[in-house]
Amino acid sequence: MTARLAIATHNAHKVGEIWAILAPSVPGLSREDVASAGELGAPSPVEDGTSFAENALIKARALAASTGLPAIADDSGIAVDIMGGAPGIFSALWSGQHGEDQANLDLLLAQMADIPDEHRGAAFVCAAVLVTPAGEEIVCEGRMPGRLLREPRGEHGFGYDPIFMGEGQTLSNAELDAETKNALSHRGAAFRALAPHVAALLAD
Ligand code: IMP
Repeated sequence: MTARLAIATHNAHKVGEIWAILAPSVPGLSREDVASAGELGAPSPVEDGTSFAENALIKARALAASTGLPAIADDSGIAVDIMGGAPGIFSALWSGQHGEDQANLDLLLAQMADIPDEHRGAAFVCAAVLVTPAGEEIVCEGRMPGRLLREPRGEHGFGYDPIFMGEGQTLSNAELDAETKNALSHRGAAFRALAPHVAALLAD
């Protein structure tokens, strides 16, 4: 396989998802053109940035440098209005351990237990970035505004999806099928905004 684009994740499922969002806007981009950091044997850098965009750039810069390919990365999380934007970049380890989705969700619900409905505004945020080996950098941000529910609802998705309902929706994110969530989500918006830049780069 000769990849043309590297994606900063070790999760093959995420590569497929990102490719599916980019493909309609990037002529000729086949699934085989896209490889994960894991497939390319690239190490994971320490994510010590102070924003979603900085953390995404750290991952993409490291991947572009170690593979010599244009690299894409994203970083995302949930920002709760009344908590000043927290958990934010700490979303994945809010309860203390990285990726403990249930514990993270339980802690956030407990912290918000006394907060009335009109003050439960929140947004999912995603920064998607493209970095070339020559040092060109593009940053696109997507947001999905909504509010926190009081109890988990639904079985789909991951992370905080069961306790989040998008603006104008009647279903939690975990009650949406994957296609509907992609159409509405912060990640979908960020990658759709990035897609024309990927197309322009690969067309050169
Ligand atoms: P990462 O960008 O993959 O590191 O995700 C950071 C964390 O943010 C995840 O572990 C989830 O807790 C949360 N998160 C990001 N996007 C979503 C989403 O679409 N649904 C639910 N949780 C999300």
